[in-house]
Amino acid sequence: MKYRFLKNRRAKKQAVSAVVFLALLAAGWRYSLLGFFIPLCMIAGIGIGLFRGRKWCDWFCPRGSFLDTLAAKASPRRRIPSFLKGLPLRLAVIGLLMAVMTYQLVRRWPDPAAIGSYFIAMLTVTTILAVIGAMLLHPRAWCCVCPVGTLANLAGRGKYPLRIDSDRCVECGRCRQVCPIDISPFSFKGEGREKVRDGDCLKCGQCVAACPTEALRFRS
Ligand code: SF4
Ligand code: SF4
Repeated sequence: MKYRFLKNRRAKKQAVSAVVFLALLAAGWRYSLLGFFIPLCMIAGIGIGLFRGRKWCDWFCPRGSFLDTLAAKASPRRRIPSFLKGLPLRLAVIGLLMAVMTYQLVRRWPDPAAIGSYFIAMLTVTTILAVIGAMLLHPRAWCCVCPVGTLANLAGRGKYPLRIDSDRCVECGRCRQVCPIDISPFSFKGEGREKVRDGDCLKCGQCVAACPTEALRFRS
């Protein structure tokens, strides 16, 4: 009951966020200045990351919400391969996107319309990649290499941690089933109350609500 309530409440917020995303993306091709909402989202995601890790990516992120609500309908929901979650690939994606962005911003400076249109083009290309990732693998496959998510992950390591009470966990696997980004909280079981040391946790609380033995909670 608690899980269903939380799931429905999150789904409603994500539906609104997803509609905003699609509307902005479509309008951005006509009104390029709308592209400046993208750097604002990047700053917000990394800023929140300093205090709450990837909380931004839960439902605040318009694209994450779009992936969880609409793209998820066409996804086979396979396990996300570990190389996608690994730091080398993630740093390579950050390096590539930052290099392209810097080149484009210098080239288009100081024309705001040209800069805005670059941001919209960048969002469109990366969203196409995200949808392909959702259709081939998992709705949040792209989120594992998204530069904002990676930087929020690194900035927010250890902040507002999810903990597992190892004595209570019966390894039913329910937490993994409901996790939107394919984390297995029970794999962090040890002795006593352990931190779920996965910087990609969206702090969504779905696993906490779904756990039948109340083995999961945030903080201590
Ligand atoms: S849902 Fe709870 S009891 Fe089941 S595996 Fe996860 S933490 Fe353990
Ligand atoms: S581990 Fe739990 S809180 Fe973290 S993203 Fe998965 S379901 Fe949400």
